[in-house]
Amino acid sequence: MSTPNTVLAPDPANRAAAVKVVARIGADQAPVSNAIEVHDPHDDTVIGYVPDLDTDQALDALTRAHSAGRAWAATTPRNRADILRRWYDLLVDNADEIALLITLEMGKTLSDARAEVTYGADFVRWYAEEATHHTGTLRDAPTGGARLLTRHAPIGLAVLITPWNFPLAMATRKIAPALAAGCSVVVKPATLTPLTTLFAAQLAVEAGVPQDLIQTVTTSDAGSFSNAVLADPRVRKVSFTGSTGVGKVLLRLAADNVLKSSMELGGNAPFVVFDDADLERAIEGAVLAKMRNGGQSCIAANRFLVQDGIADAFVEGLTERLAALNTGSGFATDVGLGPMVDHKAVRRLQGLVDDAVSRGAKLLTDGSSYAGAGSYFGATVLDQVPVDAHVVTTEIFGPIAAVQRFATQQEAITRANDTEFGLAGYVFTENLDRAFDVADNLETGIVGINQGVPSNAAAPFGGLKESGLGREGSAEGLEEYQEIRFYNLALRGTH
Ligand code: NAP
Repeated sequence: MSTPNTVLAPDPANRAAAVKVVARIGADQAPVSNAIEVHDPHDDTVIGYVPDLDTDQALDALTRAHSAGRAWAATTPRNRADILRRWYDLLVDNADEIALLITLEMGKTLSDARAEVTYGADFVRWYAEEATHHTGTLRDAPTGGARLLTRHAPIGLAVLITPWNFPLAMATRKIAPALAAGCSVVVKPATLTPLTTLFAAQLAVEAGVPQDLIQTVTTSDAGSFSNAVLADPRVRKVSFTGSTGVGKVLLRLAADNVLKSSMELGGNAPFVVFDDADLERAIEGAVLAKMRNGGQSCIAANRFLVQDGIADAFVEGLTERLAALNTGSGFATDVGLGPMVDHKAVRRLQGLVDDAVSRGAKLLTDGSSYAGAGSYFGATVLDQVPVDAHVVTTEIFGPIAAVQRFATQQEAITRANDTEFGLAGYVFTENLDRAFDVADNLETGIVGINQGVPSNAAAPFGGLKESGLGREGSAEGLEEYQEIRFYNLALRGTH
């Protein structure tokens, strides 16, 4: 068994620069009353404050967004596109500062935070381009005598609820298509990471988005917030990214007013490696699919299913790569893995490892030696994990690689699909026929084929089964904020 590295300290200059960003957005002073403290997961120090709004204040924000939405819906698609493009430019101009803020409040490494800014800003650029497309269609009635016109109208006021793991990208992936479609929004960021969303919303206003159009509501009482706003008849859309449990609660609330609902929920991604895979490519893909964001990603590889003939070499290579990652503050030089978002996450991960080992899994690298210093959990590899271990039946959301072995393609597909989730899957093989055969049979909305990072602003991101409803990114992501109206124009024959 190899020994994990010690926790690296932050680079003081980077951390000091991040603290300045908190001051720039006005979150360095506690509000007079009802503040939520925001913490640095590296050492739990308080780094900023946001107001803890009650339901009356949330409904006031909703009223402001609703009023601003009327004028916005009447703007031209070109006008909205130009403003979104300016927002994109400002996100890029401020990329360093946004990345510093993400690392400070969420913990991920600065290089992961920079990658998130690129990814998050890309949704704004994409929807600046899409805003002028998909505004409607014209078709001939198949039986003649009529033209069928569709108009893609803005659906109206949208409530957006986002998680802590990608505080910029999960917000822009919703706000940008909503604004492009002509909607106003109330956005509730996660309580652990509200600062990045506030910063992005400030930049949107600087870019020309009307002051009241994006209302960011920070609250420590998410349940009361959703009960109040989703009952308001002015709301026509809810878009949520987070756990499946909360998603089901929101769907029940949405049912009362028959709200159009988008749900980006949890995952349990199978990562299937066949004997005929390129070993180096598979290991590289596995490191990316497992370790991006410290494993705290909904599409993170959750179960490595590896064919018997390649399994030993794959496990050896993956273990070597993960054991070599330096763990420490996201601001540290040469860091490969930052802290988990909080101590609760560390305790949960420890429980998953203990459970797997008690059921007979082999522990090849042990991340638990970081427990106690900040909210750290190091990269961990478990081999020969039994099918009933919790680490394979639940979403890990952390840097634990759980390896299982299989003999045949059919066995791999059956086991890959043996979950209520269906967000992402991965297949590594050099055989194109096999790649498509497996991709077609995986019950997931997204498949990475010889690819560890499948997300793209131009692609429809979303899950099957209990991983969600609807899609984000691409033209499909715009339709989530549109209602399609249809006019039937009767034609008289002229001959
Ligand atoms: P979470 O606990 O479900 O929280 C997500 C958001 O929902 C937070 O803003 C949270 O607020 C809020 N929330 C909690 N209870 C609520 C309620 N009753 N009504 C309204 N809002 C409520 O999830 P998380 O721990 O932040 O995120 C991790 C989960 O998100 C994982 O399951 C992951 O797979 C999933 N995820 C999915 C995708 C995707 O695209 N499919 C992407 C990223 C993450 P508070 O912060 O105040 O609790």
